[in-house]
Amino acid sequence: MTELERRALLGDRQAQEECTRQGILLPCWKCGGEAEVNELHTGGKPIYAAACKKHHCGAYGAGSASVPKAIEFWNTRPAPPIGRCMECEHLKDNDGVCLYCEVFNMTTPGPEAFCCRFEPKGGE
Ligand SMILES: [Zn+2]
Repeated sequence: MTELERRALLGDRQAQEECTRQGILLPCWKCGGEAEVNELHTGGKPIYAAACKKHHCGAYGAGSASVPKAIEFWNTRPAPPIGRCMECEHLKDNDGVCLYCEVFNMTTPGPEAFCCRFEPKGGE
């Protein structure tokens, strides 16, 4: 993930707009998975809407008659608090053996992993 994408995912409006301008579809804000723009046929003109590729995840963006607009809707959705596992309160050190997430009760997929259950470390 580029720094620009990371900032956009954290809710940086400028970064979101820059990604949209470059035609970058941000990863899913819910699960961190890959997203894609789908063409939906409703009988009339096709509608485009971005959605998470993982169907069980269920994240999707608003539909639009144009692809760039669909990307914009997806990229600039109201940002939930997401952040990287390495900076998250829920990431626990299992006696130095491994790092795991107490929310999902699993080891973190990697330093770049992130999700919407993010809580900044050292909160009050
Ligand atoms: Zn997802």
